[in-house]
Amino acid sequence: MSHDYPRFDPERDPEWRSRLSLLQYQVTREAGTEGPNTGSLNMEERDGSYYCICCGHALFRSEMKYHSGCGWPAFHTEHPDAGIRRLTDRSTERVRIEVRCGSCDAHLGHVFDDGPGQFGGERYCINSASMDFIPEGDE
Ligand code: FE
Repeated sequence: MSHDYPRFDPERDPEWRSRLSLLQYQVTREAGTEGPNTGSLNMEERDGSYYCICCGHALFRSEMKYHSGCGWPAFHTEHPDAGIRRLTDRSTERVRIEVRCGSCDAHLGHVFDDGPGQFGGERYCINSASMDFIPEGDE
């Protein structure tokens, strides 16, 4: 894959390798993608919040999640304090907008323009492996 921004250097972040599962590491620190319809949070419907698996930064809330049918958790809006970063991803033929944690720069997924119109028309397509879900009341 080629990206027009610096890639993570595994030699420089050994801490992430020890703190994350292999899948979590590959997704968040190497901009990988979990298989479609394999993520643990695809079907999560409880009230609660979604946090960055790396740093605990709040990313989404349950009321922002919807069923897009794309195979990954989808959100139409980000948490007001998330500050999610957007970068141009030219790693495939189709240029996409990559989204990263606003706090630790973890790769989360991509954002597309085919989301529900009443919420602004965006679809955050996010890897389950990049997030930790905490149900309402357990926070
Ligand atoms: Fe983070």
